Formats: sequence, C-alpha cells, structure tokens
Amino acid sequence: MKALVKYAPGEGNVELRDVDEPVCGGHQVKIEVAFCGVCGTDLHVLHDTFRNYPPVILGHEFSGTVVEVGRDVKGVKLGERIAGLGATAVTCGDCEFCRSGYFLFCATRRGMGHGVNGAFTRYVLLRPDQLYRIPERISLEEAAISEPFAAAIQAVTEIARVRIGDVALISGPGPIGLLCLKLLVAEGIETVVAGAPGDGARLEAARRFGAAATINVGERSLDDAVREHTDGRGFEVVFECAGHPESVRGCLGAVRPLGQYMQVGICGREIQFPIDQIFFKQLRFNGSVCYTAKTWSRMMKIYAQGRIRLDDLISAKLPISQWRKAFDLIAEKKAMKVLLYPE
Ligand SMILES: [Zn+2]
Ligand SMILES: [Zn+2]
Repeated sequence: MKALVKYAPGEGNVELRDVDEPVCGGHQVKIEVAFCGVCGTDLHVLHDTFRNYPPVILGHEFSGTVVEVGRDVKGVKLGERIAGLGATAVTCGDCEFCRSGYFLFCATRRGMGHGVNGAFTRYVLLRPDQLYRIPERISLEEAAISEPFAAAIQAVTEIARVRIGDVALISGPGPIGLLCLKLLVAEGIETVVAGAPGDGARLEAARRFGAAATINVGERSLDDAVREHTDGRGFEVVFECAGHPESVRGCLGAVRPLGQYMQVGICGREIQFPIDQIFFKQLRFNGSVCYTAKTWSRMMKIYAQGRIRLDDLISAKLPISQWRKAFDLIAEKKAMKVLLYPE
C-alpha cells in the first residue's frame, strides 16, 4: 500500500513509498482509512522540528471503516465508521498519569504519525479502545477533524470556565481557533476573533461561523475591540491560539482583571511577555494540551446532538500522492483543513 513515510531523521526525508499492509493481531482492529487531515504537526515532522521516530508513516487526524476484527476483540463490527484516537497508540498504562486518564503526560507515550505508524496510507491497526464510533449524521470527512476538535473541546469546555454573558477573545483563526469559536458560539458566548494580516480568509470564515466581530491586528488594535465589545473592562476569557509572541502580549493586555488566559497555541521557542500582568490582574493562566479519553467521549455526544458541524472547515480533499500540495496549502495558511485520502 502507498504510505507517506518519514524515512530518516533530519529536514525533509519524507516521500510516498510502497509499504507492506499491516497484519491484524488478535487484540487489534484493522481500519481502512477514509480521510486523514494535514495539520501543523505534520509540517513540523517534515522539517524535523517535532520529535519523530523514523521510519514512520505520518498522519494522526483520521477517520475510517472497520475492515477486520482480531479474534480476541469483542463488540466491534465490520463496517463500523470510526474516528481514531492515535495519541494513545503507545502508553505504559501504569504511571500516575495513565492511571488518572492523563495519558498525554506518560513518559513512554508515542502517538501515531510521528511515534508509530500513522494514517497517511490505506490501512492502520488500532486497539478497540482507540476507536470512537461516529454517529450516522457525521460524515467521515468531518470525523477526520476529530483530533483537533477534541483539543478545542478540552480548552473551551473542560479547562476554561465560560458562562453566558461573558465576552471571549480568540487570537489566531487557524483550525483550532475556529473550532474553539464554534464551541463558544454553540454555548452562546459572545466571541471576538483576532487575526494577523495574512488571515483574511480565515477571519471571513470566523464571521460565517458566528463571531460577534473580527479584528485584523494589522489594521486595528485589540484595544478597539476591548472598548467596543467589553465597555473597556477587558475580555472575561482569552484563547491564545496563534502561538505568536505579539498575540500572547495582545491577549494579556486584552484580558480583564480576574479573567482567564488560555494558552492553546504553541510558540515553539522562548518569548518575552510581561508576566507581571498575571500578578496585577490576578489572572487564571492555563495551558490546554490535546485532550483525555473523556474529551473524546464528550465529542461523540456533541456530534450526536448535531448542533456543531465541521464540514465547512474542509478546504480541500486530495489523494495522498498530492501531499506536497496539501502541506503547502497549510503552510501558506491558504486553507483551513485539507484532507488526504488513500489511493
Ligand atoms: Zn494534529
Ligand atoms: Zn504511563
């Protein structure tokens, strides 16, 4: 089968290769991949700025259909449509974090697409606990956005505390920022979305998805938004989703005293910001990284209720051989989500 493989450490070293089809073990389920989304992490693996273990098949945001069930697996049926939780592919299962559901912090964890083989190919093997059956109303395309959606669900609904009447700011209208927006809008939270000059199309999408206003910080300052949307007091909660120093400083300035600052983006380097703002404003300052299994269960309920659709985030669907084009679309911020499918 064709697979997009990081075949050696270092910059680049990614190509489409023919690899053997994986053989389904007794405790495993074989999935035929329907779609696998390209995300910033894949670009980091390409450029070797995210830890990876070559040779490894890339791709960690995927959906698919059950095509084989190991003889020791119960309760999984052929043809079931699933979203795959790749981040738990390898964990120790025994450390304090694994035992409390926070597998993400397990020291031995390896996720699909960089630690072990991922889903930019036709078939993947999963344990039954990595499968999340998707409701009928959800398409396989939408289900391929489950991984980033889960990250947004944890940030908005599990770590931040937002209540109707609050005004929220999202800085950085990338896929995670826009997914946070969809959740906040569904919860009835007035939300302003800020972006940089290159974000025009994504800010336009934010308006379509229900943002109360958008602001291009190349043209106007965040102070204007604070004045216009919060009577000058500042936002109750800010979500920094850009991972950019200017955005971090802007969010710290725009959050009100006693407010919440959520770090959802990754800066990828050390940055300078006025940490005394956390003190003087007595902020709740939180990170949110990925999700737990509980988040994925909640996501299936959100899907089932049907109030949030994700298909309008998909900019393009391309065969896996066009991975370069897909990666470029993401790198140049020309697309929200690009999905690859096997061939
Ligand atoms: Zn991702
Ligand atoms: Zn562990």
